[in-house]
Amino acid sequence: MQLRIPGPTPCPEQVLGAMGKQMINHRGKQFGEFIHQVTDNLKGVFQTKGDVFILTSSGTGGMEAAVVNTLSPGDKVLAISNGFFGERFGEIAQMFGVEVDWLRFDWGKAADPQEVRDALKNNNLIKAVLVTHNETSTGVTSDLASISAIVKEFDKLILVDAISSLGSIDLPVDTWQCDVVVTASQKGWMTPPGLAMVSMSQKAWQAHAQARLPRYYWDFSKAKSFLDIGQTPWTPALSTLYALTVALELMKQEGLPNIFARHAKVAKAARQRVKSLDLSIFPDEEFASNTVTAIKAPDAVEVSQLLQILREECGVTLSGGQQRLAGKIFRIGHLGWVSEADIDEVIAALRVTLPRVGHKVP
Ligand SMILES: *Cc1c(COP(=O)(O)O)cnc(C)c1O
Repeated sequence: MQLRIPGPTPCPEQVLGAMGKQMINHRGKQFGEFIHQVTDNLKGVFQTKGDVFILTSSGTGGMEAAVVNTLSPGDKVLAISNGFFGERFGEIAQMFGVEVDWLRFDWGKAADPQEVRDALKNNNLIKAVLVTHNETSTGVTSDLASISAIVKEFDKLILVDAISSLGSIDLPVDTWQCDVVVTASQKGWMTPPGLAMVSMSQKAWQAHAQARLPRYYWDFSKAKSFLDIGQTPWTPALSTLYALTVALELMKQEGLPNIFARHAKVAKAARQRVKSLDLSIFPDEEFASNTVTAIKAPDAVEVSQLLQILREECGVTLSGGQQRLAGKIFRIGHLGWVSEADIDEVIAALRVTLPRVGHKVP
C-alpha cells in the first residue's frame, strides 16, 4: 500500500508501536522529563533557541494560535496567498476581527518577494505578514528567506505556515528571523495526526504581551508557564507524543541535512518520472515543492477516475486538487517517511493506469 498524499503520511513501525505504550500522569515527574526532551529535540529541527510549544490539534489550530497570540482586533496584516492554505491563514485573521490586506498570487506561482516589499512600502500600518512557506495545494515553495528578510527591513512580524515544509525542507527559524512558525505532526514528521508544533521568537513574545484577541486554549503564556514546570496547560495527547518522540529520534539519527537532501532527491525523481509519462508539472518548476508534486491532469483524464483505479487496483493513494483546482490537478505527497523506491511504485501504477483513463504514455 502506498499512501502518497501530503498528510497524513505513513509512519515507521517503531513510531506506531510507541503509541501502544501505557498512559502516564501528565502532572508527574516522568512527564516533565519527557516533555522537556521532546521539546528540546523539536527545537533542533526548528533550528531555534526560542520557544516551541506542542499543541493538541491539527495544523489549523496552530495557525489560529499564531494569530490569537500576536494580534489585536483592528490590527492590520498582510496576508500573502498563493493557494488554498494561504487563503485559510488570512481568513482565520479576518474571522477574529483583524483587518487583512491580501497580496494574492496565481495558484501555481510562488510569492514574489519584490511585491511583498512594494506592499509593505505602501502601507506602514501593517503589523504582521502571514505567509505560507510550502503551499501544499499547488506544490509550490516560496522563497521564505527573501520574504522574511524584506519583512524584517520593515521591522514587522512574520507568521509562517510551514505545516508541510518544516522537518522536510530547510527552514532555519532563527537565521531567517521567523517570529511564529507552525507545523503539524502528520506531515513531514512521520507521526500520526493530532499535534501542532509552534515556535515563538522574542519579537513574537513582545507582540504577545500587547495582543488582545481572545485566547484561552491557545494561550502561549499558559503554555510557557506550564512548560517551565514540565507540564502542558491541558491534558496532552500522550500517545501521539510517544510517537513523535520516536520519530524525532529517527530524524536525529538521519541528520537534518540528510533529511533535506533526501526530500530534494525524491522530489526531483518524482518530477522527472512524471514528465517521462508525458505529463506536466502544475507549478513553475523553479518553485516546485520538495514535499508535494502537483501534476496537471491531461484534458482527457477524469481525475476522480484515475485516483479511484490507482487506489482500488494498484493500492496507491494520491490526492486530487483542492477547491478551484479540483479535477484540474492531482498530487503526489512525498514527505516524511519516503524514498525513491516509493516514487517508483507510484510511477509504475500511473504507467499502467493512465492509458486506461485516456492518456497515452510514451
Ligand atoms: C495540511 C496543511 C494545513 C492544514 O493542516 P490541518 O492539519 O489539516 O489542520 C495548513 N497549511 C498547509 C500548508 C498544509 O499543508
